[in-house]
Amino acid sequence: MMARRTKIIATIGPASEDEATLRNLVRAGMDVARLGLAHGTLDEAAERLTAIRRIAAEEGRPVGILVDLPGPKVRAASFGDDSVPIVEKSEIRLTVGSGCSTASVMEVDYESLLDDVLAGDRLSIGDGRVILEVSEVGGDQLVARVMHGGFLSGCPGVHVPSDRLSITAPTAEDISSLERFLELDVDMVAVSFVRSAEDLMRLPVEPHPTGPLVVAKIETRAAIENLPAIIEASGAIMVARGDLGNECRLEELPILQKEIIRECIALGRPAITATQMLETMITNPEPTRAEVSDVANAVWDGSSAVMLSGETAIGSDPGNVVATMSRIAERADDEFDHRSWASELSDLRLTDRGEPDSAVTDAMTMAAARALAELSVKTVLCISGSGFTVRSMARFRPEARILGFSANKRTVGQLTLSWGTEPLHLPEEGSIEERVASAIATARDAGYVEPGELVAVLAGTNVRSRSTNVLRLELVSPAA
Ligand code: PEP
Repeated sequence: MMARRTKIIATIGPASEDEATLRNLVRAGMDVARLGLAHGTLDEAAERLTAIRRIAAEEGRPVGILVDLPGPKVRAASFGDDSVPIVEKSEIRLTVGSGCSTASVMEVDYESLLDDVLAGDRLSIGDGRVILEVSEVGGDQLVARVMHGGFLSGCPGVHVPSDRLSITAPTAEDISSLERFLELDVDMVAVSFVRSAEDLMRLPVEPHPTGPLVVAKIETRAAIENLPAIIEASGAIMVARGDLGNECRLEELPILQKEIIRECIALGRPAITATQMLETMITNPEPTRAEVSDVANAVWDGSSAVMLSGETAIGSDPGNVVATMSRIAERADDEFDHRSWASELSDLRLTDRGEPDSAVTDAMTMAAARALAELSVKTVLCISGSGFTVRSMARFRPEARILGFSANKRTVGQLTLSWGTEPLHLPEEGSIEERVASAIATARDAGYVEPGELVAVLAGTNVRSRSTNVLRLELVSPAA
């Protein structure tokens, strides 16, 4: 049985930001820590980033850091810690504010609420726990009827249909938060409520790996319509099922999840499946059987990573949640049909996109996937500047272990998200011969490969071009 290949992202929040829990999460298998900016100050989030990096180094496990920019996320003012019943068919008034909310008046932290929302609009509160229909807009309030009642606590999200929102992502606040994290060399940044590729281009970041890997969250109807251009303009994609489920009919979600992931694979971008994956573990020690199946099916759909949100941010036992997800993903990985995946992938080639660098890398990684399977090679060493070669190889979901080497430490941090990839720093930058020898020696000395074993090495000879043009099959030599 192979070790787990699908990566795990865990959201850090009040339940997981202390030293002991962070260490537990790293030990339980967190590959990427997601820092939401919804609570606390930027300085506190920056402290968490530094603590996670230190703990990961102490534990000897690479852990990437993803900062999630909330975008125009609308929230209700606090209902308090105890659940407040919102009664079906009752009326509730909505005003702009951030004081407190009750069952009859909900304050909402969105200045343009009264301008953007129209009578007849449906508002979903707390990822669908309560559904309101606006009956009247006037003066300084909206009047809404409760279509589906439920219980609300804390500061639930208020979903305003994205085509109504007058502010677009990234917001001015997103950009100023981002600047703080760029100073800290954050590995990845997620952008919420993206509607077009142009939204991503407004981020003041250099292309990765110098800048962070940009993760576009697909959670609006417009993003679905503009999907190929958004994927092209991003470094990775998140299927943000919480808000996406508010924007489309719920029965469309599993289909959209598969379509989005498939399109990501075609373009060599990691896809993250997110939200409510083990939701009941916020309070329970075991997931529901349906949740177990959801995680496994997300793996078989081709997710590079599966994500935990409230489960680790506010849940009762974040370490147990990561350990549980790790076991489910590992078992699903074990059953992954590597051979039929690789043959189906020939329909989804990067070559179709007509870019010469992509076409060369596509052909080389395809040849490597075939050689790995035919010769039962157990390990492929990918030497990459930007991570493109590694991500292209990972698309084929080889049974062989993928070692993702880069001389660029930023690339190493960004590869924590890539399926099946163990990111490693390559000390040698020199000629292709030197880089291949250095990667093999590093892998051998770290115990990944044995002297006398046949390994595959993929690399690019030209540091300026992104393409991979060398595939070597080498016997590992004994240590000098
Ligand atoms: C989502 O909506 O599914 C999501 C991941 O976004 P957030 O957690 O920021 O609401």
